[in-house]
Amino acid sequence: MNIDTIKNGIVIDHIKAGQGMRIYDFLNLGELDCVVALIKNASSSKTGKKDIIKVDRVLDIDLNVLGFIDPNITINIIKDGERVHKYHPELPEKMTNILRCNNPRCITTTEQELPHVFILTDREKDEYRCVYCESRAPALK
Ligand SMILES: [Zn+2]
Repeated sequence: MNIDTIKNGIVIDHIKAGQGMRIYDFLNLGELDCVVALIKNASSSKTGKKDIIKVDRVLDIDLNVLGFIDPNITINIIKDGERVHKYHPELPEKMTNILRCNNPRCITTTEQELPHVFILTDREKDEYRCVYCESRAPALK
């Protein structure tokens, strides 16, 4: 299959060179059985080099979480071979089961079934805090 012809899926573009694998892992793309392409060090007019990820499937994930890794990423939604939507991820107000609280005294360490929920407390600083113990979210950057 030609990786340039994604029929219905997403293209995550303008990823900072070297960060592509991290996003690949973060989104668990290795577990998908559809076509997934990670292109490293593609040339970019803006930054010189960039990584690109193409997924030939509509993902059931809120891709805005990628704003936490890099807000300069561009997400392109492809439908029937055409780009129908292009946007930059915006930090979500709330992230559930994406980050894990690393405070050893947090209730989530003893109550295993509790979801790990973080709330955006400062958009300027990309700051998230645990809803249970108010610890700052572990940095992904
Ligand atoms: Zn916590």
